[in-house]
Amino acid sequence: MSIAKISAVRGMNDLLPAAAPVLERFEQLTRAALRAYGYRHIRTPVVEATAVFRRGLGEVTDIVEREMYTFVDALNGESLTLRPENTAGVVRAAIEHSLLHDGPCRLWYYGPMFRHERPQRGRYREFFQAGAEALGFAGPEVEVEQILMLRRLWAGLEIGPVRLQLNTLGDAAERLRHREDLVAYLRANRGELDADAQRRIESNPLRVLDSKHASTQACLARAPRLLDYLGEASLAHFERLQQLLRQESVPFEINPRLVRGLDYYNRTVFEWITEALGAQGTICGGGRYDGLFTLLGGKPTPACGFSIGVERVLELMGTAGPQNDACDVYILHQGGATYGAALGAAERLRDEGLEVILHADAASLKSQMRKADASGAEFAVIVGEEELAADAAAVKALRSVPETAPFARQERVPLRAVAQRLVQALCAAGEVDEQ
Ligand code: ATP
Ligand code: MG
Repeated sequence: MSIAKISAVRGMNDLLPAAAPVLERFEQLTRAALRAYGYRHIRTPVVEATAVFRRGLGEVTDIVEREMYTFVDALNGESLTLRPENTAGVVRAAIEHSLLHDGPCRLWYYGPMFRHERPQRGRYREFFQAGAEALGFAGPEVEVEQILMLRRLWAGLEIGPVRLQLNTLGDAAERLRHREDLVAYLRANRGELDADAQRRIESNPLRVLDSKHASTQACLARAPRLLDYLGEASLAHFERLQQLLRQESVPFEINPRLVRGLDYYNRTVFEWITEALGAQGTICGGGRYDGLFTLLGGKPTPACGFSIGVERVLELMGTAGPQNDACDVYILHQGGATYGAALGAAERLRDEGLEVILHADAASLKSQMRKADASGAEFAVIVGEEELAADAAAVKALRSVPETAPFARQERVPLRAVAQRLVQALCAAGEVDEQ
């Protein structure tokens, strides 16, 4: 009888070691960019009380209506949800721990999110987001700061051209006035709308603007524009944002139909879009959400944030650039006492900060050498019986190096000197920082 294999859950991906160097490069550069702007790391649980999202995101959003993984905790009957995004969780934590007690704070997060979507390229059921939240900042300066940070990050990641789209959603009163006219217009043109849009006319008409349906989009081209309903303060906010972006030479387009998937945004919304990924071209979405704190039971607090779709950015990064995640050294041995000596040598090398693979089973030196070569390591260290008898190891460079480079030809080195000689050799090759 054969036992059936088990696959990963549909829409949830394994990230295999071959893709890890690109991921690690993304993580490293993203962390550096966020730190360069004073953002500090926060990690919240993957699971939250369902109310965090129901209240925070709004009942009539794609996410809350149909994308959440919600379940009842069998032990105590509590309704829990796998987080579909992290802004609501960060704000919940900021309120719970009074993080704004000493004034505004800049936070960033990174981790998996879960949405029950139809899996397709760039759209998964488990996906990662890296995001930032600036809590307690009212002015457009913090939007500018986040946009500049993202521009810097895209450049560092070398992901090719990305466009910045901006819009403003005004404040609640302005949206209400616009909403009345929009609803009247949509009702009058009901026949041209898709079923989802028709349903949303009453429940969440602004979200109709976000529709991806062709006939709905055509109908929307003539709909009342929120931009025309903005009061002085909202307009000034939007103007100042644009002025600062122009000052810093950040190109942008204003897209009046940009509303973003979530309910909690007001004033500024923005997206970064690439042409290189097909339909799922938005790699980052963000905006201001001054109302979220009160929805979650906190004091009114202005805030602004963004979230990067990590899988989409990784796809843009491709496998470009030198990606070397190989070890520095591969150690060969002949079992028995030579294994003991090799084990000790490996530990001494690691003490010096080198990355080492110690061959793990019995095999001929020839076959171990093939493994060493294939591992991508810079050097082989051979602890054979002959070498051990001389209290030494043989060291050989595995990559093609100039004749004059250290260990271009195999060389016997006293065991106690191996670590030091290899550190020198790697420094010479620029592989490790000089201590
Ligand atoms: P869409 O309109 O495409 O559904 P969204 O408004 O739901 O996007 P956000 O909630 O703003 O997306 O999430 C921010 C970013 O996270 C998106 O721009 C995208 O890059 C990424 N993202 C969102 N949903 C998914 C998913 N299911 N799989 C992979 N990445 C995603
Ligand atoms: Mg979505």
